Amino acid sequence: MANTTDFYASLRAELQQIRDAGLFKVERKIVTPQSSFISTDNGATVINLCANNYLGLSSHRGVEEAAQAAVATRGFGLSSVRFICGTQDLHKDLEARLSRFLGTEDTILYGSAFDANGGLFEVLLGAEDAVLSDELNHASIIDGIRLCKAKRYRYKHNDLDDLREQLRQADAAGARHKLVFTDGVFSMDGTIARLDEIRAVCDEFGALLGFDDSHATGFVGKTGRGTHEYRGVFGKVDIITGTLGKALGGASGGFTSAKSEVVALLRQRSRPYLFSNSVAPAIVGATLKVLDLLEADTTLRDNLEENTRIFRAGLAARGFDLKPGMHPIIPVMVYDAELSQRLSQRLLELGVYVIGFFYPVVPKGQARIRVQVSAQHTQSQLTTALDAFGKAGREVGVVS
Ligand SMILES: *Cc1c(COP(=O)(O)O)cnc(C)c1O
Repeated sequence: MANTTDFYASLRAELQQIRDAGLFKVERKIVTPQSSFISTDNGATVINLCANNYLGLSSHRGVEEAAQAAVATRGFGLSSVRFICGTQDLHKDLEARLSRFLGTEDTILYGSAFDANGGLFEVLLGAEDAVLSDELNHASIIDGIRLCKAKRYRYKHNDLDDLREQLRQADAAGARHKLVFTDGVFSMDGTIARLDEIRAVCDEFGALLGFDDSHATGFVGKTGRGTHEYRGVFGKVDIITGTLGKALGGASGGFTSAKSEVVALLRQRSRPYLFSNSVAPAIVGATLKVLDLLEADTTLRDNLEENTRIFRAGLAARGFDLKPGMHPIIPVMVYDAELSQRLSQRLLELGVYVIGFFYPVVPKGQARIRVQVSAQHTQSQLTTALDAFGKAGREVGVVS
């Protein structure tokens, strides 16, 4: 008994350390659908600027109806993995539609993008191979790479010279195959990977190029295909991973999209695919509807682009220090952790829901409010939110 008592005591001590460091995460209860405004369980209704609901599809009527129709015709759940009895016609339809949308040969669905990345590298790379990863890549990429036996190289964030240097080292070490992998968009800064230049470097070294486009699929690029479209390398990348849990409706689910032999081997060997349940019919049916909407016209991503432009300009005009860019992730730099918390708290009182991020989520001294704009925000919501930013910013002393 002594041992288990010690165990639980050590967990309590660890939790207390997290609290003492001011890093304890608490979850706010929302009692409405995810939308441009939300209500919390204390009755407050606030403008929502912190969801990944980029296109406003999380509570879109047509998408909800498509989900309901899929439940009516295909049921609630599959109670099976894909290869036993968990593949419906809709799953195959969605895989084909995603391939067309992304400009690839084939696509395999996963329960999440985390799983897609978790089940990718181990299947494709062996001990003779090398994987080269941007130092700021998403946790799921880091974990996926940890599970594979390939030699790992980490290159400096978005740094082509360092990427070249790491590729040289991989070659010097005799790597058989080399895979460069990056986030398409980096979530804390809204930075868009320089995929065109990375592609050129990969070609120089005979390396494969893969990227995780979770913060881009559906809206980055002229027709919303993603970072490869934005950077002019549509059809010229090897592997794309992504999520259905952000712009594409925001429920859950992920995918890997690539050449057909890559996807075929993943279906045989990828552990999160083989040993985890099929994506629910409601999500699959709804995502097909999302792709109908996005392929019909570019209204939603155009609205998002316009809202982003308005919000970035409005914040800059009020004296805020922004990380430059065009992505709807807008980092409002506050630098000081405590100040970022005071600003987000005051904004909440003024009816605007945003989150302040500080170390260790971002580097020390780089605390910020991360604003995320949606196509669903109305002009009046944006104006109200901008005015609240101005007022709160002056009160806490972030702007004068
Ligand atoms: C959000 C995100 C994920 C995780 O997506 P899920 O489908 O929720 O697992 C993976 N990679 C990146 C880059 C992300 O931004």
